[in-house]
Amino acid sequence: MELNKLTIKEARQKLDKGEISSFDLTKICLDRIKKIDDKVKACITICEKEALEEAKKADEKIKKGEKSDLLGIPYIAKDNILTKGVKTTAASKFLENYIAPYDATIIKKLKNEGAVLLAKSNLDEFAHGASTENSCHRPTHNPWDLERVPGGSSGGSAAAVAADMCIFSLGTDTGGSIRCPAGFCGVVGLKPSYGLASRFGLISMTSSTDVPGPITKTVEDAEIVMGVIMGKDENDATTVEFKNEEKTKNNIKDFKIGIPSEYFDEKVDKKVIDLVKKAIGELEKKGAKVVEISLPHTKYTVPTYYIITPSEISSNLARFDGIRYGVRQGEGDDLENVYLASRGKGFGEEVKRRIMLGTYTLSAGYRDAYYLQAQKVRTKIKEELDFELEKVDCLITPTSPHTAFKIGEQADDPILMYLEDILVSGPSLAGLPAISIPCGEIDGLPVGMQIIGSRLNEKILFNIGNIFQNITDWHIKRPNI
Ligand code: GLN
Repeated sequence: MELNKLTIKEARQKLDKGEISSFDLTKICLDRIKKIDDKVKACITICEKEALEEAKKADEKIKKGEKSDLLGIPYIAKDNILTKGVKTTAASKFLENYIAPYDATIIKKLKNEGAVLLAKSNLDEFAHGASTENSCHRPTHNPWDLERVPGGSSGGSAAAVAADMCIFSLGTDTGGSIRCPAGFCGVVGLKPSYGLASRFGLISMTSSTDVPGPITKTVEDAEIVMGVIMGKDENDATTVEFKNEEKTKNNIKDFKIGIPSEYFDEKVDKKVIDLVKKAIGELEKKGAKVVEISLPHTKYTVPTYYIITPSEISSNLARFDGIRYGVRQGEGDDLENVYLASRGKGFGEEVKRRIMLGTYTLSAGYRDAYYLQAQKVRTKIKEELDFELEKVDCLITPTSPHTAFKIGEQADDPILMYLEDILVSGPSLAGLPAISIPCGEIDGLPVGMQIIGSRLNEKILFNIGNIFQNITDWHIKRPNI
């Protein structure tokens, strides 16, 4: 077996037994990147030299008998996560040559653990998008069909795992950006509960929903990575300590699964619905109880998300003024011209659209009508989800309304692109954990199912996800590339 195809768990066993070295594993992943990334275009920066050095250090530690879950395991990080000394562009011209002066907390934790950073991956500029086409570099291609998008905005990270360029990757999810590309690329993507993993050192998009998380080959691996990156961080006041006090269930017969009817209606491709229902049927056959529920506020999630998100974006991106960060234009002119020229040149079209929308929804005359109203609806969406999740252990839905679409097919229609988030934005607005797991294929393209849990109850998602992966083999399938 080619080593780059290993899961974290498999690689760990082989490393600990001395059957392979981290150096070889890292080298093979780097070779794989070199071989196929011309086609997939998942990586922006490759840290070959640093990675090989880190791998050697990891091998020494392993030889000395040191043990930790990710010691010597090569991974890729989305390029909106700061990595000290390595370029972090957020796929924006504004940060084309920006070298991060410090590591994000999650990168620091992975470093302490001995994980090996291979590369930084492509995304939609500042994570604004659902297809990885809004990158200042180039679009990423889906390894299952190179004419199609990998989903977004963590499209590079998902494509890299699907194409076995790394053992796992990191993404960020604000309104679906880990789950949607994981679904389109046939891999596992976890959006943790808001606050479970630190946002310190992520380039902010929507501070009230941003959260980093793992993209992996199996649910087991997602749990391993989460175990390392989660936890309270003094640099992020919204982080919480994880207490596993919830009594978790392991026996499928004890699980009660809720099926929200609004996630299975005409918005969603009939074939996707059939596959996800079939997957739920597999769990039911093993003894899970399945009940239909209703979440009538679902229709408001995308409109609410697209008021709150641009509002926070317009505020967060105000720091990019050409003075403190990134490209500066209009030097020598007056200050306002420097701002205008720098922001005019540095930001792409979608980013500008969101800044304009957000400036409007926060403006003196419209704030109450838009932003405050959206916050009230958000509370309703959250209450409704929390209420249903008291009655069931988890909800299962499709991740996306269809399989990966063609590159360019939706690029000129922002509203159509926003509707990609229709099944994933609810858990983001409510701060709930949700995982996308491959559950089938339509015409050779993967389909993901989303499992949503109550706040800080990721364990339920891992348990039911593991059970599903034990009885099916969708997670083992890989694209032919
Ligand atoms: N598609 C969503 C958006 O464009 C999700 C982005 C994200 O999660 N980073 O806002």
